[in-house]
Amino acid sequence: MVLQPGSTVGILGGGQLGRMLALAAARLGLKSHIFCPPGDNPGSHVCDRITLAEYEDFAACDAFAASVDVATYEFENVPVPCVERIAGRVAVRPGIAALRIAQDRLNEKNFLNGLGIATAPFAAVDDAAGLDRAVAQIGLPAILKTRRLGYDGRGQSLLRAASDAAGASAATGGAPAILEGFVAFEREISVIAARDQDGVIACYDPPENHHRNGILDISRVPAAIPADVAAAAKHITARILTALDYIGVIGVELFVLKDGALAVNEFAPRVHNSGHWTLDACAISQFEQHIRAICGWPLGDPSRHSDAEMRNLIGGDAGQWDMLAAQPGLCLHLYGKDAPRPGRKMGHVTRLIPKGHM
Ligand code: AMP
Repeated sequence: MVLQPGSTVGILGGGQLGRMLALAAARLGLKSHIFCPPGDNPGSHVCDRITLAEYEDFAACDAFAASVDVATYEFENVPVPCVERIAGRVAVRPGIAALRIAQDRLNEKNFLNGLGIATAPFAAVDDAAGLDRAVAQIGLPAILKTRRLGYDGRGQSLLRAASDAAGASAATGGAPAILEGFVAFEREISVIAARDQDGVIACYDPPENHHRNGILDISRVPAAIPADVAAAAKHITARILTALDYIGVIGVELFVLKDGALAVNEFAPRVHNSGHWTLDACAISQFEQHIRAICGWPLGDPSRHSDAEMRNLIGGDAGQWDMLAAQPGLCLHLYGKDAPRPGRKMGHVTRLIPKGHM
C-alpha cells in the first residue's frame, strides 16, 4: 500500500502528538482527520477534519474509518475495541498487537523477556497477599505499578520497607499491578525508531532522558554512553519492531546499568516525547517518519545535523514564552492548550548545539 499525496491520514487522539503528526502530514501534502472526545484538543487546531466523539461510539468509528485511507493512534491507551472496529474497515498502523502488549505492563514484560530482552525483575500482584509474595520474591526497594493506564509516573508507588505495602496498595487503588525491582541505573535512554512496510528499520541516536516529578524534563542527544551501548539499544529496538511486524514509529525506554548492560523499562507504540528534538535537529522528524511509514513511503534519513537538548514546558513554564522566543538558537514549540495545569505538557524548547560540542 502506497498512499498518494492528497490522501487522508486518520489519527486517534487529539493531543500534542496528534497535532505534530497532523503538521507533518500537511508538510507532505497529506490530509489529516483527528478523532477524539470533546475537550481541549490541540491537534484539532491544525487538522483538516475533526470528529469529536467517544471512542466507544462505533457509529462514529465507522464514519471515521470510511473517511480515511490509513489510521494511526497518538496514545497507547486508546481503547482496543475502537481500534479493532476501525481496523475492520481500514488499515491501522501500527497494528493492534503492539497496542495490546503496550497497554498492559505484565504482557509487555513477558513479551520482552520472551524475546530474551532484559527488564527489571517483576512479579504480578493481584491482591494484598500477592503483594506480600511479590515482595518476598523481588526484594526491596521495589516499585508497585498498575498494569494498565499508567503514564508519567502515575499509578506508581515506591516501596522501601515491607511496612510501605499497605500504602502502596492504596496508592494503586487495588488495581491489578506488577511489582518491579528497583533498578539502580546509571542513566535512562530511549530509542526512537521506525519500521516500514517492507521491514526496513531506521533508528535515531538514543537521547538520554532526565525526569522531574515522574515526568520527562530533558532529553539530550547524544547520550553520554559508549558507542557499543548505543548500538545495543538500537539492536534491541529493532528486535522488538521485527517481532511485532510493526509499521510506524516506536519509543523504547531503557535503563543503562553501571556495567553498560541494558534493561528495557517500557515501550510506547507511537511517537515519543523523548524524540521531539528530531523536529529541529534532523531533516526528517519522528512525526514525518511515522507518517511516511504508515503511508507506505520510504523512510527518511534519521541522522542528526546538530546535537540537541529538548526541555519540556510543563504547567506554568510556558508562561515564559516571550523570554524563550528571544533566545538565539532555541526552537520554541507551543501546543496551543487552553489551561496550564500543573504537570500538563504545554510545549517544549530544543536548543541546537553544533555536533560534538555537547
Ligand atoms: P514508567 O512510567 O514505567 O516509565 O516510570 C517512570 C520513571 O520512573 C522511569 O522513567 C524511571 O525514572 C522510574 N522507574 C520506573 N521503573 C523503575 C524501576 N524498576 N527502577 C528504577 N526506576 C524506575
